[in-house]
Amino acid sequence: MVKIILKPGKEQSVLRFHPWIFSGAIKKTEGNPAEGDLVEVYSANDHFLAIGHYQIGSITVRIISFEQVAIDSGFWYQKLHQAYQVRKTIGVAENPHNNVYRLIHGEGDGLPGLIIDIYNDTAVMQMHSVGMFRIRHILAQTLKDLFGDNLKAVYDKSESTIPFKANTGAKNEYVLGNSQACEILEYNNKFMVDWVEGQKTGFFIDQRENRKLVESYSKDRCVLNMFCYTGGFSVYAIRGGAKLVHSVDSSDKAIELTKHNVASNFADANHEAFAEDAFEYLNKIDDKYDLIILDPPAFAKHHDALSNALQGYKRINAKAISKIKPGGIVFTFSCSQVVNKDQFRQAVFSGAAMSKRSVRILHQLTQPADHPVSIYHPEGEYLKGLALYVE
Ligand code: SAH
Repeated sequence: MVKIILKPGKEQSVLRFHPWIFSGAIKKTEGNPAEGDLVEVYSANDHFLAIGHYQIGSITVRIISFEQVAIDSGFWYQKLHQAYQVRKTIGVAENPHNNVYRLIHGEGDGLPGLIIDIYNDTAVMQMHSVGMFRIRHILAQTLKDLFGDNLKAVYDKSESTIPFKANTGAKNEYVLGNSQACEILEYNNKFMVDWVEGQKTGFFIDQRENRKLVESYSKDRCVLNMFCYTGGFSVYAIRGGAKLVHSVDSSDKAIELTKHNVASNFADANHEAFAEDAFEYLNKIDDKYDLIILDPPAFAKHHDALSNALQGYKRINAKAISKIKPGGIVFTFSCSQVVNKDQFRQAVFSGAAMSKRSVRILHQLTQPADHPVSIYHPEGEYLKGLALYVE
């Protein structure tokens, strides 16, 4: 195996189990690794540190083991099996009321570069590293070994997440079996999920617990679900007894799916869905809502877009907070990885201050337990949210 030798002192972060080796930490490379190859990482004084996937870029190695073990089918089975045990422990797997969850959340599950979401009997993989992409068939087989007859298909959706420059030729396709968009169950709520056509792996599983919280606040409220996508928050709000729910998204397809999902859960609900731009919609509403959800797409995907993104969060929160009925609640989120918790909070504070209203934080929200954060990799915490009470 190719040996990557670090500069003196650069082993410290590896000894603290941080899973990335940056290019600047490397003294020399013994051998000529191809992108996606397994490599061994050594300290300057030749102590073994870790094994990982090699990739050209600022993160040169993504560590998958801090022990010198064989990376064979037994290794992958053990990793996936451990992750599955965690999902059973937290109650999202093997649950008759829930058949959608994230099985592998990258670094949070010790597997940088790999995302696996489970939609009933289909697994959707999304690779962010060349190393994981190259072993997609091994991973699919491991999933089959783990789930047996409960797994019909594995769909690889890495075309847009694998670094373009790596030239892998990745295309979205089934790597095992075949399946079709299907209705899944999340806490007994039905949602149509289409991993082929939909955004991300098909569904925003990461908002499950926050949707449940919205349900508990919805009784007799007039709810606006802004950036609704397939209507996740809308369905929970109706379930919670909302007086009225309006769902808004700029995508026609999303609005169509939202209507479908509401109709498949409720014979009659006081619900309407509008394909409109968020800012335009918020500009024209008066104070008819007393619960507003703001779950925008990542306003920043890279650091250079950070200041614009923060302005965006400030503006949209200022609008919602200034328009909500007295006694209303705003659930506001950011899923931008480059915006940290403090920056998001600062943006919401600034927006709140523009409204000149009294605002209390009721809840500080984050991603659910099937999107775990490794304690050694705090960067893995990407979903931030606040539930605000506005007087
Ligand atoms: N809350 C959703 C996920 C939201 S994803 C859930 O729980 O499933 C973000 C959504 O914002 C996408 O569906 C996208 O179509 C929509 N969107 C992006 N820009 C928008 C804009 N300017 N106005 C309204 N919707 C927008």
